[in-house]
Amino acid sequence: MRIVSTVLLMPVPAGIILLVSAMASQFTPPTRAQQLAAIGLTTALPQPLQRALEPRDDFQPILEPEPSDWLRNHIELGQTFDQFTRSRPNRPDNHRRKLYLQPLGRFNGSDAPSLDQLRRFTAAFFMMEVVVLPPADWAQNRITSRQNPWTGQEQFLTGDILKALQTRLPNDAFALLGITMTDLYPEPSWNFVFGQASPRDRVGVYSFARYDPKFYGQRPTVDTRKLMLLRSCKVLAHETCHMFGIEHCVWFRCLMNGSNHLAESDARPLHLCPVDLRKLQWSIGVDVVERYRRLLDFHRDAGFEDEARWLEKRLRFIAAPNGGRNTR
Ligand SMILES: [Zn+2]
Ligand SMILES: [Zn+2]
Repeated sequence: MRIVSTVLLMPVPAGIILLVSAMASQFTPPTRAQQLAAIGLTTALPQPLQRALEPRDDFQPILEPEPSDWLRNHIELGQTFDQFTRSRPNRPDNHRRKLYLQPLGRFNGSDAPSLDQLRRFTAAFFMMEVVVLPPADWAQNRITSRQNPWTGQEQFLTGDILKALQTRLPNDAFALLGITMTDLYPEPSWNFVFGQASPRDRVGVYSFARYDPKFYGQRPTVDTRKLMLLRSCKVLAHETCHMFGIEHCVWFRCLMNGSNHLAESDARPLHLCPVDLRKLQWSIGVDVVERYRRLLDFHRDAGFEDEARWLEKRLRFIAAPNGGRNTR
């Protein structure tokens, strides 16, 4: 089984710190020409899609990374649209056409994101039917757990969860995604992971535990629940895009940027850059305008004002490309 670990944070055992520093890399932000080359030729595409893939100045450039950031600690060559299609990634088809969310453990506390909102968001983002399965019975699956030696909190072993999910993969599932409010670890020597996935097996598991301010001893505020939902939507969409074979983005500031810490995750937008939007559109073959409209409805309901304003601006441009001031 090919496993892709998503994110590891410090503090970590000494061996892993060495591994990370040995991989320290110099990243140079791409030029405009490199960004456009990564998007690829769009002239044969229908007009609305062509316009949706025009970056203008609506997509922020990726910045020089700080020492603790993902791109200073991981070598990312970037995946262009052409490279993506040539990699022959998994795509939904008539049989495997649904996304399944499998809640693992408790999901009803005041800190947990609403499962129905996660379902609605995922359905709009991927324009696929999303099914939330009944909560799983841990006892039957013999999931190994431990008390984390640094935080004292309970954690589940990701490998056991991925194996259990593989045995439950429904016939019509494009992917089965375990979601949990319990912290995770990939092996005894590691401190934790946010999540782990096996894209070729179409299963993954993601924890929202460390997106909760309470995890760090912070008091909840009126915005805590909205923040939890926003962070949970981001990780769910990012990780599910990996299931489609979409790799980390180095072209723009984008949902698919790698993330080494919470501040870096928070800085990622909830939308895809044109390179990754094109990949997702190629995989699922949807109307990009309809997809943006559904996401806009969700963002308004959820109170994600910044993302809603961004979508409104893009939709105006796609509808009337010459009406805006930016015609680049
Ligand atoms: Zn990732
Ligand atoms: Zn991107």
